[in-house]
Amino acid sequence: MRLILLGAPGAGKGTQAEMLMKYYKIPTISTGNIFREHISNKTDLGKQATKYMDAGQLVPDELVIELVKDRITRDDCKNGMIFDGFPRTIPQAEALDKMLNDLGISIDYVIDVDVPDENIIERMSGRRVCSKCGASYHTKHKKEKLEGNCDECASTLMQRVDDKEETVKNRLQVYHMQTKPLIEYYNKQNKVLYIDGTADVIKVHDSIMKLLGEN
Ligand code: AMP
Repeated sequence: MRLILLGAPGAGKGTQAEMLMKYYKIPTISTGNIFREHISNKTDLGKQATKYMDAGQLVPDELVIELVKDRITRDDCKNGMIFDGFPRTIPQAEALDKMLNDLGISIDYVIDVDVPDENIIERMSGRRVCSKCGASYHTKHKKEKLEGNCDECASTLMQRVDDKEETVKNRLQVYHMQTKPLIEYYNKQNKVLYIDGTADVIKVHDSIMKLLGEN
């Protein structure tokens, strides 16, 4: 199964990707998490990406595309993958189509997780992420078991700089201008499944599974 999760930042793509990853036993490719790993390892790529990310802007296409090209040819992607936060622009989507085509494969479905902007702002201000493994929590909707610590690896949870309200508003604007047109792009390929992302996590997951024909 090869899936793309589309939707505004904070629409719940990361949480749904984690659930789908466990079900299908395929990796999630989250370009945001990969960039954050580079930033914490202080690599050159991390240094380049951080200025865009902290401002709520997109990292330039060339950097993102190179990174994904390298990632999808690894062994663990043989049975499929879930893209979370990639592609985010039309040139990225075109590059992905070409990369997959060169490998003789293609995307099966694009899941559009729809959540209105007002809900996104409320959600993101409560979002906390693991500083080590990137697992995602929420102060109201998905609390960790031991306060301040990741359920998966026990590392400290933190608020991302780009989850602060002003940056969130920038990110939403970027989403509407640059990423939303991808729905039309994939619609032309008849691949889009529409999901109401305002329901709770389990209900959204169940709706996705139903549309994928899994239950
Ligand atoms: P995310 O965790 O997916 O919300 O991504 C966090 C930030 O990383 C974004 O606001 C961008 O600055 C950057 N980023 C992640 N994925 C991409 C992408 N596909 N294209 C450009 N920038 C990206």
